[in-house]
Amino acid sequence: MKDLMMDTPLLITSLMEHAERNFPTREIVSVSSDNPNFRYTYKEAFTRTRQLANALNSLGISLGDHVGTLAWNDHRHFELYYAISCSGAVCHTVNPRLFPEQLVYIINHAEDQVIFCDPMFVPILENIQDQLTTTKHFIVLTSEEQMPESSLPGLLCYETLLAQETSDFDWPDLDERTPCSMCYTSGTTGNPKGVLYHHRSTILHTYAQAMPDVFGVSASDCILPIVPMFHVNAWGSIYVGPMTGTKIVLPGAKMGDGETLQHLIETEAITVSMGVPTVWLNLLAYLNESGKSVPTLKRLYVGGAACPSTVITEMKDKYDVDVHVAWGMTEMSPLGTVNMFKPGMEHLEGEELLEAKLKAGRGVYGVEMKITDDENNELPWDGVAFGSLKVKGPWVLSDYYKAEPGTTLEDDGWFETGDVATIDKMGFMAITDRTKDVIKSGGEWISSIDLENTATDHPKVAESAVIGVYHPQWTERPLLLVQLKEGEESSKEEILAWYEGKVAKWSIPDDVVFVDTLPHTATGKIQKFELRQEYKDYKLPEVDV
Ligand code: AMP
Repeated sequence: MKDLMMDTPLLITSLMEHAERNFPTREIVSVSSDNPNFRYTYKEAFTRTRQLANALNSLGISLGDHVGTLAWNDHRHFELYYAISCSGAVCHTVNPRLFPEQLVYIINHAEDQVIFCDPMFVPILENIQDQLTTTKHFIVLTSEEQMPESSLPGLLCYETLLAQETSDFDWPDLDERTPCSMCYTSGTTGNPKGVLYHHRSTILHTYAQAMPDVFGVSASDCILPIVPMFHVNAWGSIYVGPMTGTKIVLPGAKMGDGETLQHLIETEAITVSMGVPTVWLNLLAYLNESGKSVPTLKRLYVGGAACPSTVITEMKDKYDVDVHVAWGMTEMSPLGTVNMFKPGMEHLEGEELLEAKLKAGRGVYGVEMKITDDENNELPWDGVAFGSLKVKGPWVLSDYYKAEPGTTLEDDGWFETGDVATIDKMGFMAITDRTKDVIKSGGEWISSIDLENTATDHPKVAESAVIGVYHPQWTERPLLLVQLKEGEESSKEEILAWYEGKVAKWSIPDDVVFVDTLPHTATGKIQKFELRQEYKDYKLPEVDV
């Protein structure tokens, strides 16, 4: 018998139409390059989105074409997300922090036909323009008055393009598996790899994001996405807004700055925000030194890297904000797990409570997880056994863009995340390391993340990295690299003494090197590969392990 339900495709277009009809007056506030306090409604945003769709048409963009963006979180980038995807093209968000050779590689690899960029990124494009093989137009996201002088050929102004178009546009009926957006991973070795999302995966991911134990936002909330729109669709927040009717505040170029964040949270009455750990450390530092507060803020989500415990404890104790760790990756759109407590965890307090809160959280419906040993045997969910973390689900990639088909997943259809993890009885996953970063000392594995978290808890330490260095007896032993907070002084003895009683004695680093800065990837992760290269011949002192 034929099924008897409507076959409605899951399209991003429906988010736009839903918001326009149900939340026409809900606001989008944006800090853009030419206006630090731009505000309009969903209705106005999607009216401009239709003008933009006409402009894309005039630029010759058609179904399946790739359109690049190099932009911060603001209202014009928001319009691009919807206009490009809903007209059947692919919105390729490019990370402006990549090295020039990586930018050239990904823009050419994605075959971007046009690129929209913030004025401050024009020099980056000028620098690489003669190596771009497919890009025909560059459009600056500003008004005619603010257009920069530039040597870019075919340079156009965004506002002028829009002004030439009407707001009548019939969105095409697309298949739900039409690609809508793409993002390249910031791999620390080799070329970045492209992940191509489609409308269906994006809508399913958005439903999941909106659930109560995930972002849990409603039409009464106001969100501040501090995760960049150039990295994994700002964790899906740009789609959750129109689905649920939340007010969205887009913080622009200074989004990592504590003062800017506090100001936006206070003036716009932000209730929920999401970002990487560094952002919350910056906000905390500003709050502590200015004496200001964030009274409307209820919840923060932190992901992308391990969360320092001070973010959780200080945010709660001093500012009454709940911090939830989340885990995911570019290949997963990115949502995988969120740390939301379940009944049966109410009794936790003190160290036990903090330990539970620091875990990456439990799998969201839609993502299956397992951990395996080197022979692909599934390991128990006992919170002790750790192994390679693998995932499956409708918003997990099946292959990288232009990779040889069938080469990305394991034979049994699981995607190996490259993370090493434990999963406890309650289903809470904790990342212990990246597969490549784990330190193999004798037969034992030492988690570099645990050692880094302990170092970062030291009041004088700003940031730290732990890498494995060759050792004749143990194969590898941990070396700790420390960047101290400004004006602080310390010694190897002081830092190593800090570890006593906090981690197993045999896993305490053998040595400490004080550095001025640590190298970061374009998405803010520490470049361990570079550090391993730099310290590959490092001679560790004789230590009793
Ligand atoms: P990306 O694809 O650039 O978003 O990076 C994904 C990777 O970031 C994951 O595979 C993890 O290694 C790391 N990551 C993400 N969230 C967390 C977290 N909560 N704790 C530790 N590492 C994380």
